[in-house]
Amino acid sequence: MRLDKVSERVYANCDGETGGNVGIIVMDDAVAAVDAQYPVSGTDFRKSIPSVTGKPVTHLLLTHIHGDHVFGNQAFEDCEIVSHTRLKEKMEESLGTIWAPSNLEKMLEDVKKNRPERAWLFEGLRIVLPTKTFNDRFTLPGVEMIHLGGHTDCSVVVYVPNDRVLFAGDLMFAETFPWAGDPTADPDTWIEAYKTILAMDIETVVPGHGPLCDKKEFETQLVWFETVRKDMKKLIQDGASQEEAVNYDGYLDFYESEGDRRERSLRHWYRFWSQKE
Ligand SMILES: [Zn+2]
Repeated sequence: MRLDKVSERVYANCDGETGGNVGIIVMDDAVAAVDAQYPVSGTDFRKSIPSVTGKPVTHLLLTHIHGDHVFGNQAFEDCEIVSHTRLKEKMEESLGTIWAPSNLEKMLEDVKKNRPERAWLFEGLRIVLPTKTFNDRFTLPGVEMIHLGGHTDCSVVVYVPNDRVLFAGDLMFAETFPWAGDPTADPDTWIEAYKTILAMDIETVVPGHGPLCDKKEFETQLVWFETVRKDMKKLIQDGASQEEAVNYDGYLDFYESEGDRRERSLRHWYRFWSQKE
């Protein structure tokens, strides 16, 4: 895997070929990796780190629970694996449900059937849990993990203040339609997270998916989130059904959606705001 220089201390891979974006932060004496993709690509990522720094990798920082970010944890088993408390709790819960061994096998079969081009990435999958958790904030020298929620309830950002770089995790799908349909996705919290990020001193953002970006991309996506919220809440107040609200053609133009991501995100938002009304 190629790691491109983002700033003095930060390198990242944003090609999107083998999972969510990943990167590293080179600290004074050690290296912290951010997210781990899938077992095969996570291993490839780990092996690529010595090409840019000889310092030891001591930490893996997880932005949230989705498989394209945490299924590669096993490549960092010798490190402190850090996440929000909810991420570890949900992983533990999932070990008894969707990620139980028999269900993992079924998931792999589904991937082979529905996304055969991705199946090789899952080879040897083992669920590896975080070893350290936090609720609001976790710091390493020159690095801050901050819980913001939004995309999932366990979503955090990783901030490198000296370099003015932010790893946004999946709070940012740069130049593409976001996945906003996780059962714990909270669009109101997501909007607040954007406002928090816009108030931070940031030059470059490593998004969870898509190319490197900056705050302008947050401004663009914030406008879309806020106008859709306004429109959809009005539709709900006026008694629109879920079908009507999802298929409403008055929403602001936005990026193309990959597959049914837009539809499933809007369905989740409809349920979310209907329950709040
Ligand atoms: Zn995600």
